[in-house]
Amino acid sequence: MTAPRLSLNDGKSIPQLGFGLWQVPEDQTARVVREGLAAGYRLIDGAAIYGNEVGLGEGLRAAPVARDEVFVTTKVWNDRQGEASTRQAVEESLARIGLPSVDLMLIHWPCPERGKFLETWKTLIALRDEGKVTSIGVSNFRVADLEVIIGEKGVVPVLNQIELHPRLQQAELRAFHAKHGIVTQSWTPLGQGKSFGADAIRAAAARVGKSPAQVILRWHVQLGCSVIPRSTRAAGLAENLDVYGFALTEAEMAGIAKLETGERTGPDPAVFN
Ligand code: NDP
Repeated sequence: MTAPRLSLNDGKSIPQLGFGLWQVPEDQTARVVREGLAAGYRLIDGAAIYGNEVGLGEGLRAAPVARDEVFVTTKVWNDRQGEASTRQAVEESLARIGLPSVDLMLIHWPCPERGKFLETWKTLIALRDEGKVTSIGVSNFRVADLEVIIGEKGVVPVLNQIELHPRLQQAELRAFHAKHGIVTQSWTPLGQGKSFGADAIRAAAARVGKSPAQVILRWHVQLGCSVIPRSTRAAGLAENLDVYGFALTEAEMAGIAKLETGERTGPDPAVFN
C-alpha cells in the first residue's frame, strides 16, 4: 500500500501519510526507515534535534526503493535560527543524512522571543533558490507568525506541521492554511492514545473493523491533513498505513469533532523558545 499525494503550493507534491522519527533511538532508526519503506511508506519525517539523521540516511540507502520515490523532511532546530547558523545547520543535516538536498526543510519552532524566524525564513528561501532544499515550510507556526513571513516576501510555506489530534483540532490554523494553500501536517496525530477509549472512536472502530489508531489516522486523512505517525514496530508501521480501505461517515467525523478539549501534549508555540 502507498499513500496518495497532496499538492504543494510550489508545484511539488507530498505523500499524505508518512512516519515520524522523534524519539526513535539512533541505533534503531535505520531499521525503522528500512521497514517503513518496505511497508510502502514514501514520506519520512526527521529533524536535526531527533539525533538520528545518520540512521535516516542509512535506512534510506539500505531500502530497495529509489531515492527519488522517497520524500525526506528535516528541520532547523531553534538554536540554529539566523542566517549563518541556518546555512550551517542545513549543510550539517545534509551531510548526516548523506544527501545533496532534501525534499522539505522546516523551521522547527517559531521561537518568538528569539526574534529570528523571519531571517531564518529568508535564508530558507535563498537555500531553496540555490537547490539545497526542494521545498520549504514551517512547524508550530501560529497565524500571526505565518502572516509575518508571508507578508515579508510573499513566499508562502508549502506546509505547517503542527500538533493536531482529536483533543486539539486546530480549526483556526486549518482554516488559515486552506485559505493560503498551505498543507496542514499533524504531529503527535495519535494524541498519546488519550482518545482511544472515547465512544466516538470505539464505535467507529467497531463498525469498520479497525483499531482506534486507524480510525484516528483516517480522521486526519479525511480532514485533508498530511499525517506522520511514529511506530518503532513493523506491525505498527503497517497498521498505521492501512487507512485507505475504509471511510468514516459524516456522523462519525462530527462525533470526533466533539472530542476537542484544547489540551496540548507538547509545548505552546507562543512561549517555547
Ligand atoms: P504518535 O502520535 O505518532 O504516537 C507514537 C506513539 O504511539 C508511540 O508510543 C507508538 O508506540 C504508539 N503507536 C504507534 N502506532 C500505534 C498504533 N497503531 N496503536 C497503538 N499505539 C501506536 O506520536 P509522535 O509524538 O511520535 O508524533 C509523530 C511524529 O510527529 C514524530 O515522530 C515526529 O516526526 C513529529 N513530531 C513533530 C513535532 C514538531 O514539533 N514538529 C513534535 C512532535 C512530533 P510504538 O512505537 O510501540 O508503536
